[in-house]
Amino acid sequence: MLKHGDTCPVCGQGPVEEKVVNEPFKYKGREYVIPDYHIFACGVCKEELVSHESLKTSEKTLTDFRRKIDGLLTSDEIKAIRKRLGKTQKKLAEMLDVGEKTFARYENGQVTQSKIMDLFLRGLEVYPDLLDSIKFGKQAGNDYEYETVDAQFMPAIKRSNDEIQYQIEKDEQADSVHKDDACAAIAA
Ligand SMILES: [Zn+2]
Repeated sequence: MLKHGDTCPVCGQGPVEEKVVNEPFKYKGREYVIPDYHIFACGVCKEELVSHESLKTSEKTLTDFRRKIDGLLTSDEIKAIRKRLGKTQKKLAEMLDVGEKTFARYENGQVTQSKIMDLFLRGLEVYPDLLDSIKFGKQAGNDYEYETVDAQFMPAIKRSNDEIQYQIEKDEQADSVHKDDACAAIAA
């Protein structure tokens, strides 16, 4: 790892000087300043290098800065949802069908979740049973399960059809009543 006084790895000549700066980061017109950002500046080629340590410690902060602008859950919010669901990273990753490492990276800010994943995590917070529904859907790959789905949903569909049919009949009756009324009015 690079340290103060080391030979510049870019030009191989000047010694690098470690500096602690306030580093501004821009995203979609907004700015976030990271304090105590360690850089190494070469006095010969003027190249400025960032320490691994600075990159690592600022990664989560910067990811969360971008997430907030994009309206996405932050690392801590994702972790809080998982804790409230009472799941380990491994278990929740398995249920969401993402790699365990990927889910861990959502929480440490190395990877930003997709908009869909974000919406789903928010949904889970409100409806923890969503996971069971998904499991049910995944198992519905055989005829027996499809029959179960039909048996569950058909009465509701049939009922709504009946309601539609009833409404049509009622409308037709209403029309004929108006016509009769009209005829009666003419006859009178
Ligand atoms: Zn240099």
